[in-house]
Amino acid sequence: MLDLHTLHFASAASRCAYVVVFLVTALTQRQQTFLWQWMGAMGTSMVGSLIMMQVPSAAPPVWIAVIVYGLYAASLVLCWTGLRSFFGRPVRIDLGICLTVLPGLLYPLLLAAGVAHRLALAAVFLCCLGVALLAAYETVRLSPGVERLWSQSIVTVAFGSYALVFVASIGILVATDWPMASAETARSSMILDQVIGVFAYFGYMAMAAERANRTLLHLAETDSLTGLSNRRGLQKLLRLRLPAPGRQPLGAVLILDLDHFKSINDRYGHASGDAVLATFAARLTATLRTTDLVARWGGEEFLVVLPGAGPQELLPVAERLRAAVAEAPFPHRSGALTVTVSIGVAMMGRDAASFEEATRQADAALYQAKAQGRNRVCCERKPAPAPGPVAGGAVGPAHAPAQADLRLA
Ligand code: GH3
Ligand code: MG
Ligand code: MG
Repeated sequence: MLDLHTLHFASAASRCAYVVVFLVTALTQRQQTFLWQWMGAMGTSMVGSLIMMQVPSAAPPVWIAVIVYGLYAASLVLCWTGLRSFFGRPVRIDLGICLTVLPGLLYPLLLAAGVAHRLALAAVFLCCLGVALLAAYETVRLSPGVERLWSQSIVTVAFGSYALVFVASIGILVATDWPMASAETARSSMILDQVIGVFAYFGYMAMAAERANRTLLHLAETDSLTGLSNRRGLQKLLRLRLPAPGRQPLGAVLILDLDHFKSINDRYGHASGDAVLATFAARLTATLRTTDLVARWGGEEFLVVLPGAGPQELLPVAERLRAAVAEAPFPHRSGALTVTVSIGVAMMGRDAASFEEATRQADAALYQAKAQGRNRVCCERKPAPAPGPVAGGAVGPAHAPAQADLRLA
């Protein structure tokens, strides 16, 4: 019911719409080269469809076929290189050009060498199959440090389907004597191309949108100066990483506040203060385990959560953090700066609301540490007794230096 002319027109019109949408998107994000490549992919296949609209039969003359195969190959190659750029993988321009011109070159050469028309066409499809598989492979392979997106599976399905269509076409051309240039086969492949194309192009949009969303979420949850989580990020990590409320305490909370930080700003400038904050954050992260949660709570205040930690671990960890700051001067252009930190600590209880309560207690303990002279660890309330002899260790560990006030009221 759909004649070839109508199908080619529908294909060209839909690709024209995609080109406009991608052009507008790419113009607003010029540095995202993958958007330009995907727009090029749609543009080249649109031109191919416009040319095919002018061809009265399903079998174009050889010179038109060479141009059209070249355009369709360019479209597939740009899809593939666009995916590589999207995932931050290097693009081999020389390989891309070879894969683009190969089908258009191979086809007339094989015909001139006397190879049967069906086999020459199968060779063209084989080249296209190779590029479709490369594109599908880009969406399934994992790169270190690159998070997998849900939407990339849409593009995997699209290029997997393209590959299946090419395999079926090659099979039909090589193993059967079905008429190859009939209007019926051309119509079927046009319809499949339309459907798969919609998946591929919407898949690209979904991938770009999903990644942009994740980036925004990450920015909203991260402190840009130190790279640590901010309050919002910590709330999310608490939901994900705290043990389930139950019989065990959920862990411990530490609030750390740099001592006399304002005077660092006043004496050396705001940029030096920023550098101290960044170095301090790096020391915190280096001193803690990767399972511990660290956040910039605001200004020069930081919050640490030790998920699942018992009372016997709390004071030694806090003391280790205090020492990591006080005992190694911070690098500065005018020489090294001595920086100290006061720390308030508290144990969390067993229920979901206990984080807020422990934070309030740790904050009160921090005030005590400041009032008692700074550069010390304070605990407002005695942590729940640890089983066995380690309880004494938590109250006053043998390695605690004299200036750390481990007073447990
Ligand atoms: P204390 O020992 O009582 O905590 O004294 P303090 O000087 O550290 O505390 P105060 O609250 O008086 O001053 C905190 C200062 O931290 C004031 C503010 O300008 C500075 N500050 C907050 N955020 C930043 C920042 O992002 N960068 C820099 N350089 N300074 C900051
Ligand atoms: Mg301070
Ligand atoms: Mg403060």
